[in-house]
Amino acid sequence: MEALKKYDVIIGLEVHAQLATNSKAWCSCEINTHALENTKVCEVCSGQPGTLPALNKKVVEYATKMALATNCQINDLSYFDRKNYFYPDLPKGYQITQFEKPIAQDGYIVIADALGAEKKIRIERIQIEEDTGKSTHEGEVSLINLNRCGTPLIEIVGCPDIRTPDEASAYLKKLHSVLTYLGVCSGNLQEGNFRCDVNVSLHPKGSEKWGTRTETKNLNSFRNVEKAIECEISRQAELLDRGEKIVQQTLGFDAETMKISVLRTKSDAHDYRYFPEPDLIPVYITAAEKIKWKEELPELPEAKVARFITEYGIPSYDAEVLTADKKLASYFEAVARAYTGEAKKAANWIMVELLRLLNEFNIDVDKSPVESLELAALLNAVHDGRISGKQAKDVFLKMFDEKKGADAVIKELGLVQISDTEALIEVAKKIVDSNPTQVEQYLSGKDRVFGFFVGLMMKETKGQANPQIANDIMKEILESRKV
Ligand SMILES: [Zn+2]
Repeated sequence: MEALKKYDVIIGLEVHAQLATNSKAWCSCEINTHALENTKVCEVCSGQPGTLPALNKKVVEYATKMALATNCQINDLSYFDRKNYFYPDLPKGYQITQFEKPIAQDGYIVIADALGAEKKIRIERIQIEEDTGKSTHEGEVSLINLNRCGTPLIEIVGCPDIRTPDEASAYLKKLHSVLTYLGVCSGNLQEGNFRCDVNVSLHPKGSEKWGTRTETKNLNSFRNVEKAIECEISRQAELLDRGEKIVQQTLGFDAETMKISVLRTKSDAHDYRYFPEPDLIPVYITAAEKIKWKEELPELPEAKVARFITEYGIPSYDAEVLTADKKLASYFEAVARAYTGEAKKAANWIMVELLRLLNEFNIDVDKSPVESLELAALLNAVHDGRISGKQAKDVFLKMFDEKKGADAVIKELGLVQISDTEALIEVAKKIVDSNPTQVEQYLSGKDRVFGFFVGLMMKETKGQANPQIANDIMKEILESRKV
């Protein structure tokens, strides 16, 4: 980017992750994005007078687990606050959040920077809060669905340690993978379960003082975050080039038109009149709970990468790709364990053949038409010399298309590779005997004619000869004619 030569960029990200609890944060309403509008609402989450919220304990557990997994300090005691503002999809007139003392603070995650070196991105705080309802605008009519009101979120506030759009994307992918590994967030981007606000500011290279920042709201894909940051960097750079000032604003990004638009001139924290939530008691996390939740943490992405490299002997690039998604990692492990050959081969097949088709048809790996053990069976057939690598690709396509097992397809296609040496020697002898001219040529040093013999061999066996064995046998027979 041209602007990056002239300006330093400071990027900070705030992520809102929806916690994967069954019920809402302060009431027992079910969380169900697909339910009929306004059917998952009660007196509490719709903010009726005289009702009282009661904290869902799972919310505290999930938020704490994410905090532990991102090296945060857990606050044994934390409080809820009210953030007051009016919006039609917020019937209470305030959002319950954590302002003065959040559940956790001072953490970090590690990403790889542009040169592949490790870079720490600090996490300022993790706070528990609730989501609002949803407004949809159709022509002149606005519709409100309160089903989402009171859905628990954690806001993960990152420090402004990010310098490029790539780093922003790497940071988000890492957070997303940790959240989904923990199982505390479904991570579904299309449904907005993981969304991000981006703060960007620019200052001339060498300047100590940072520029005024803007905030771009509610980006819900890694790509959109990168694009929005690029657009905002260009927009600010143009203004600064013209000697204009950056105004502190809240912006929106339209992924289709790639345009940044001004939503409102930014409100400061004091505009929200934060005050302690009187209806909820402080959250107290006991030492025993902390220990228990820490013990319950699963193997996290970084640890899995390291283990895959040592346990399966695969390169770090492969390990990164295969562990980015927990389900993909499990799939790989199942194949690698059942496969008798080298795990690197299994990794290749999954990264190239399987992922290509899964991406093409937009299928999740846990719904793959080729199950892990069937892929292992296919790879074993190649490893044992029953079919060739080339045949395996055809078998794989049929397995994927028709959801059939490896052995069934191999049988159906009549693809049994002939590795029986006796039978192949017979065929080779016959070929040599009936082609004296070519034998003469070969014996007089025309090595190229060797391909002719192997070709006939494959033709005679309808392509089913094990190519390596066929090669060896033909060579041996021809060489024996030399004397
Ligand atoms: Zn409710």
